[in-house]
Amino acid sequence: MEKIDEIKSLILESKNTVFLGGAGVSTESGIPDFRGPNGLYTQKNKRGYTPEYMLSHTCLVKNPDLFFENYKTNVLHPNAEPNMAHKALATMEEKGLLTAVITQNIDGLHQMAGSKSVIELHGSTCENYCCRCGKQYDIDFILKTDGVPHCSCGGIVRPNVTLYEEELNESALMVAATLMSTADILIVGGTSLTVNPAASLVSLFPGKHLIIINLSETPFDHMAEFVIREKISDVLPLFII
Ligand code: NAD
Repeated sequence: MEKIDEIKSLILESKNTVFLGGAGVSTESGIPDFRGPNGLYTQKNKRGYTPEYMLSHTCLVKNPDLFFENYKTNVLHPNAEPNMAHKALATMEEKGLLTAVITQNIDGLHQMAGSKSVIELHGSTCENYCCRCGKQYDIDFILKTDGVPHCSCGGIVRPNVTLYEEELNESALMVAATLMSTADILIVGGTSLTVNPAASLVSLFPGKHLIIINLSETPFDHMAEFVIREKISDVLPLFII
């Protein structure tokens, strides 16, 4: 509790607090992470395809049936709702305690909770576009289509998310890098910090107030001023002043 009071005072004094999060922010909304105990990567796939392959550009192009079967079954969670962690971050922003959320998540739950300043490093399942003509589609179009979704022009409609083998969104990355390098408090939560660009972004943070909230260890724990190994939805609401 002493720790929490200290963090609250720091946040109150801070001019620029930034949050960087990952899949662990949404597990309590019922969306499994990748590397946690119930994560997608720990589940065995019956057909012998790796989760990385089924979320790859090659799979989308060469085996779209498999891509969309896996995507609709394991990636899309249309009934998920924001949890207390998403809501706390939205409230912090509203109260002027938080500059931005940088997320590796693709589920759109931060915006659904009311956050306005959200940088999505890996895109969003809420946005979809035709690979041929670029026409945009919403998530309902994907959900309501059996099998592979096609545009009226015949092209495949794909999610606007970064698949394995694809380049990251350069502009999102630039904005995130600027936010990181100018923050005076960085709160990191619900991410294993084993995937780039998240790991390299943390390295850009110049301040001393690094707060990590994660159920398991991360490679950056030794650099943090505070490490909190509890559920993020229990911790973030305590930061609201
Ligand atoms: P990860 O699976 O590598 O790590 C998640 C971390 O969160 C783990 O270390 C776990 O211990 C921790 N965690 C789980 N539940 C928690 C909770 N309630 N409170 C605190 N900590 C908790 O995920 P990552 O680091 O985000 O990176 C993997 C990639 O997964 C990202 O690129 C992301 O795009 C993708 N992903 C996104 C979603 C989503 O959009 N919700 C879901 C799964 C994977």
